[in-house]
Amino acid sequence: MGARAGTPRHAGGFLNVIIVGGGIGGFTLALCLHRTGIGCRIYESAPEFQPLGVGINVLPHASRELARLGLEAALTHVAVLTREAAFFNRYGQLIYREPLGREAGYADPQYSIHRGELQRVLVDAAIERLGAECVHAGWKCVGVDQDDGGATAHFVDSATGVARPAQRADVVVACDGLHSVVRKSLHPAEGAQRYSGVNMWRGTTRWPAILTGASMIRAGWLATGKMVIYPIRDAIDGEGRQLVNWVAELETPRHDERDWSRRGRLDDFIGAFADWHFDWLDVPAFLRAADAILEFPMVDQDPLPWWSDRRITLLGDAAHPMYPRGSNGAGQAILDARCLADALGADADPIRALAAYEAKRLPFTAEVVRMNRSNPPDAILREVYERTGDRPFERIEDVISAADLAAMSERYKRVAGADRASLAAAAEREARMNETHHNDAQRGSQ
Ligand SMILES: Cc1cc2nc3c(=O)[nH]c(=O)nc-3n(C[C@H](O)[C@H](O)[C@H](O)COP(=O)(O)OP(=O)(O)OC[C@H]3O[C@@H](n4cnc5c(N)ncnc54)[C@H](O)[C@@H]3O)c2cc1C
Repeated sequence: MGARAGTPRHAGGFLNVIIVGGGIGGFTLALCLHRTGIGCRIYESAPEFQPLGVGINVLPHASRELARLGLEAALTHVAVLTREAAFFNRYGQLIYREPLGREAGYADPQYSIHRGELQRVLVDAAIERLGAECVHAGWKCVGVDQDDGGATAHFVDSATGVARPAQRADVVVACDGLHSVVRKSLHPAEGAQRYSGVNMWRGTTRWPAILTGASMIRAGWLATGKMVIYPIRDAIDGEGRQLVNWVAELETPRHDERDWSRRGRLDDFIGAFADWHFDWLDVPAFLRAADAILEFPMVDQDPLPWWSDRRITLLGDAAHPMYPRGSNGAGQAILDARCLADALGADADPIRALAAYEAKRLPFTAEVVRMNRSNPPDAILREVYERTGDRPFERIEDVISAADLAAMSERYKRVAGADRASLAAAAEREARMNETHHNDAQRGSQ
């Protein structure tokens, strides 16, 4: 199936959706559809839902959607509510600091969380609300097709490779992540993933609170070594240590294909950070104390020209893989899910609904993909690296003004839809819609 065909109309009746992939996007979509009154079933290739991955950030534009799904208490229990962003050069000198989440005046928090914990909160809620019979693990999608009356997903047992019964519904949504089988079938001629030239090593370390204990730290620059460090779980032992997530990023041609579970070796990157002994953190000691290290390349893909082929569409990483540089991978998948559920709830014709979802989300996420390549939040580090010639500074004000730094940060938030003004406008729109629904319902019951 290489190209879009015509657009026959939905025959009416209750909508039913098959979700391929039970990651962050897939389960958020299931919960949003359930809230909208649309039935769905989830098919995940992993044989069970294990807490895979390491740290992930959910910014207020996405945590707002999770709160709307009633998940705030469960998330607050297992996440750190991030309070600030702090940028340093590779000499440990502070470049810029700004509040994040509620500290920055947002109505909703920024969560720094283990990806596995976020997924567990979503899976538990889905099983409770949709019923366990709607959540299937060990189902690996191998293809999709459709006709005028519905769409079909084909599966094999992921352990044995034996075919499972094909599943049919009004719509199939591919939330099968970075290596999406469905994306490949919709766009067979698409090229390989694009390597950014930066390889990443990620891990977690049990460590006492660093800075505020809720700081998202970015330090150094990619040419000589960059670190991202943030806590994802509080008070994990009797000594009050935190589980701290870190990412070491280094420019190098050496890389393998992205595999979320590939083990990394400390010796391959620790040299770049050997002299990072700061008064706020001894980085080599911190890295040596890591529990486990994973390695993967920073890759993305050029934005697609289209996602939806009549009754089949893409969502999350399957639709728009992006560099993980702006804390937006999970967030944009969550926003896709809300938008798609709204579109399906607003139009009885699923083909039109999928097209409306694509029209809203594709241009927006394409812009985030591009911005993550050129000017993500860590561009602040690049700017100072270039202006100082990678040397220590006397006073940061002599290098770049606080206003210029704040403007760089704000520009990214605007593109990602994560700035306060966009969120306040969205909240106001929603309140108006709710009021209209409420008034309509009251008039209907009179
Ligand atoms: C194991 C794993 C670990 C990760 N770790 C991190 C991390 O540490 N930090 C980070 O920032 N991001 C991580 N990510 C990526 C992050 O979750 C996503 O970028 C983001 O949440 C967008 O969500 P998504 O639902 O589009 O994709 P994902 O959350 O990646 O979910 C995709 C899901 O589809 C399933 N799937 C794939 N192929 C098929 C198939 N053929 N049939 C059925 N199901 C299929 C996958 O098993 C997965 O559960 C990880 C992803 C995975 C799968």
